[in-house]
Amino acid sequence: MKLRLYDTYSRSVRDFEPLQPQEVGLYTCGLTVYDYAHVGNLRTYIFEDILRRVLELNGYSVKHVMNITDVGHLTSDADEGEDRMEKGSRRTGMTAWEIAELYTQEFQKDFERLNILEPVVLCRATDHIAEQIEMIRCIEEKGYTYRTSDGIYFDTSKLTDYGYLGRLDIEGLQAGARIEMGEKRHLTDFALWKFSPAGQKRQMEWDSPWGTGFPGWHIECSAMSAKYLGPFFDIHCGGEDHINVHHTNEIAQTQACYGTRLANFWMHGYFLQIDEARMGKSVGNFLRIQTLMDKGYDPLVWRMFCLSAHYRAKLNFTWESVEGAAVSLERLRNAVYEWGDAGVVDDAYIDKFIETVNDDLNMPRAMALTWELVKSDLPAPTKKATILFFDQVLGLRLGEWEPKEDIIPDEILAIVQQRQQARQEKRWKDSDALRDQVSAAGYEIEDTPQGPRVKSKRLKVEN
Ligand code: AMP
Ligand code: ZN
Repeated sequence: MKLRLYDTYSRSVRDFEPLQPQEVGLYTCGLTVYDYAHVGNLRTYIFEDILRRVLELNGYSVKHVMNITDVGHLTSDADEGEDRMEKGSRRTGMTAWEIAELYTQEFQKDFERLNILEPVVLCRATDHIAEQIEMIRCIEEKGYTYRTSDGIYFDTSKLTDYGYLGRLDIEGLQAGARIEMGEKRHLTDFALWKFSPAGQKRQMEWDSPWGTGFPGWHIECSAMSAKYLGPFFDIHCGGEDHINVHHTNEIAQTQACYGTRLANFWMHGYFLQIDEARMGKSVGNFLRIQTLMDKGYDPLVWRMFCLSAHYRAKLNFTWESVEGAAVSLERLRNAVYEWGDAGVVDDAYIDKFIETVNDDLNMPRAMALTWELVKSDLPAPTKKATILFFDQVLGLRLGEWEPKEDIIPDEILAIVQQRQQARQEKRWKDSDALRDQVSAAGYEIEDTPQGPRVKSKRLKVEN
């Protein structure tokens, strides 16, 4: 039951062995905080959270580092256009600094709502300008940089295996390039440091050995991961869009400076799509967790939704499937609640669960196993203990949930009274009709020796 994970770098599922016994270094690329996180971004963070929980289930302590991109990510990934933070500032009328603070806090709220474990280190790009300058200097000393009128660039032609992560066809890309390269020497070259435009003061700018300006987007991850995890660590994650540009460039920088390919495993979550297109902040078709909450959904419905697909499969957003996830979650919660106190786990189920999640985080199969457990004829205390074990990875807070206080409206209580009267008078037809009326309104009557008890109908697991 060894943990096996898909590694984009080698394009294969490999046995996971930590570089140091017991402690695993995990770096996940964080949000660009010029706007709220959308549910697609959060799909990626849920995948990374599952990964972390599975590592912990395997007994590793995980040093999880996540950055916050609060400077340098331009509107185009090709080092063109405006800084997203400055653009967000124009959109909202707040300063770039205020925006960064606001959306970082909102992002942290989403983590809490989705029961995503907090990173051990949460590091902002703007708090690590000195480290980034230091790393650019290192890359420069090794001879990988050149200067243009707008910044310091990385010369990707100097690395023989540049683009290996994405299996990029560099010559093909170069030949097919129609876009303006400006003063860049090669299409894939990228900015390490950009100068503030002449005569213009940016909200976010710093002095550097090359001139006043700001770091390129990619350098923050190479510099901060080296600071907190060292130049070669266990696992680096992000969404699939990071493979060809952002992670490729992170590897190039680290390779130039430290001679390593940064991480032993590279893992990528596939996109959430809407109407078969990528959901994106820059595309403008995005939904937030708050959007779901405004429609009355518990945020954990989104976690449940994401658990239905493997992280290496695209997932399409529809409101029907959100509703489906909500119904499933409610059924599951009710079942778990009604099992009462936990007893001792069922070892066979635990083994199967570990085997399933250790098989490259196969969450759809883990959910199928969860339903199998729910429907099994194991005693309730065994089921309860076993599902609480599963929930260390599922993260659905199954042990904490309680049904809302059941308030029965007076009209319903009146009908129950009438039914009671009918029963006493042996008017069985009337009594049945009244029971149907109560049932149609969403309540059920249980006749006990102390008299009738009414409660709201709750969604049950169907066998
Ligand atoms: P960004 O704020 O653009 O830096 O993105 C934050 C994270 O969300 C990155 O890991 C992206 O790869 C990921 N991401 C962006 N769009 C999507 C999407 N539609 N589905 C899943 N992940 C996404
Ligand atoms: Zn990154």
